[in-house]
Amino acid sequence: MYQTKAYAAKSAVSPLAPFEIDRRAVGPHDVLIDIRFCGICHSDIHQVRDEWGHSLYPMVPGHEIVGIVAQAGAQVKKFKSGDKVGVGCLVESCRECSECQEGYQQYCDHPVFTYSSKEKDGKTLTQGGYSTRIVVNEDFVLRLPENLPMDATAPLLCAGITTYSPLRHWKAGPGKKVGVIGLGGLGHMAVKIAHAMSAEVSVLSRSRKKETDAKRLGAAGYYAMGEEEAFGKLAGTFDLILCTVSADVDWNRYLKTLKRDGTMVVLGVPPEAQAVQAENLIFGRHSLSGSLIGGIRETQEMLDFCGNHGIVSEIEIIPIQKVNEAYERVIKGDVKFRFVIDLASLK
Ligand code: NAP
Ligand code: ZN
Ligand code: ZN
Repeated sequence: MYQTKAYAAKSAVSPLAPFEIDRRAVGPHDVLIDIRFCGICHSDIHQVRDEWGHSLYPMVPGHEIVGIVAQAGAQVKKFKSGDKVGVGCLVESCRECSECQEGYQQYCDHPVFTYSSKEKDGKTLTQGGYSTRIVVNEDFVLRLPENLPMDATAPLLCAGITTYSPLRHWKAGPGKKVGVIGLGGLGHMAVKIAHAMSAEVSVLSRSRKKETDAKRLGAAGYYAMGEEEAFGKLAGTFDLILCTVSADVDWNRYLKTLKRDGTMVVLGVPPEAQAVQAENLIFGRHSLSGSLIGGIRETQEMLDFCGNHGIVSEIEIIPIQKVNEAYERVIKGDVKFRFVIDLASLK
C-alpha cells in the first residue's frame, strides 16, 4: 500500500480539502504512476456536488491524469519505469461482456470509473487524479505521444476522447459541416479535432466573447446564439452537432439547425431532463444521440492522432490549493479553456 496525498470532497456541500488515501500494492499487471498533472473536467464539479445523484464520498476527483511510470508489475508488458502515460475516466471493466470484447469498455454493464465508483470487489471506492500517485491495471493505461507537452495533454484523456469519438463515429471529414455548442473544455477540443479531420466547424456560443479564440482554434464559423437572428440564419445547416453544454439549453432550437439526416450528439450532462418536440426530429429525419467518452483502444488512437497533428488543450495551470476557486471560475465560464492542476504543488 502507498500512502498518497490527495484533495477530496467529503460531501456534496464541502469544498475540496487535503486528504490522504491508500493506493493498493502494485500487482503483477499493475502500473504505479507518479501523477504530474490532472485536468479539471466539468464532470468533476457535477460529481463533487452530487448533481447527478449517484456520488460516492469521500471523493478524490480527477480523470484527466498524466504522469510517469514509477514501477511496473512483474508481468506488465506495455510499460516500464520512466514512460509517460495517461489515465482517463476508466480504470477497469468486466472484460467479458460483448462491449468489452469489442473494445467499448465505456458501455460495459460493470465499468469501474476512475473515481466515485467501486472497484471490482464491489466495496473499495476508486479515487482519482487530484492526488500524487495512482495504481492502474496496464490495460487501462495509455501511452502519451512523445512530442506533446504533458500538462496540455492531460485534458485529452477526457475532453479529447469525448469529442474525438463522436466525430469519428459520425464521420466528420471533408465536406461535412460540424457545429459545436459551447466553447469550454470539451468544445475547444471538438473544434481542434474536427478541424484536423478537415471538417468545416462552427462554434455556437452564447455571446461574441470567444469569437477570436474560436477562429484561432480552427473554427470557420462563429455564431452568438443569444442574438435574435442566429437560429433562423442557421436553419438546415449542419451534418453533425456536438452539444457540450453543462447546463440546460433548449435542444429543440438546435435540432432545427441540422440538415436532412443530420445528427445532434449530446455530450454535456445537465442535471435536469430535457423535453424534445417530435416535429424537430420528424422534419428533416433528424437524429438525436449521445456519446460517452471512448473505449481504451480508441483513446490510444485519439492520443496518436493528436500527436500526429500536434493537438493539445489550451490550459491554465494552477496549484491544487486553488482548486475550489477554479471550480467557481469554470461555472462562470472564466477559463481558457481547461484548468490543469500541477501535482507538484501537493508534494
Ligand atoms: P465547461 O468547460 O464548463 O464548458 C461548458 C460550456 O457550455 C461553456 O464553456 C459554455 O460555452 C457553455 N455553457 C455553460 N453554461 C451554459 C448555459 N447556462 N447556457 C448555455 N451554454 C452554457 O465544461 P466541459 O468540461 O467542457 O464539460 C461539458 C459537459 O460535458 C459537462 O456537463 C460534463 O459533465 C460533460 N461531459 C460529458 C462527457 C461524456 O462522456 N459525454 C465527458 C466529459 C464531460 P459558451 O460560453 O461558449 O456558451
Ligand atoms: Zn471528464
Ligand atoms: Zn464488460
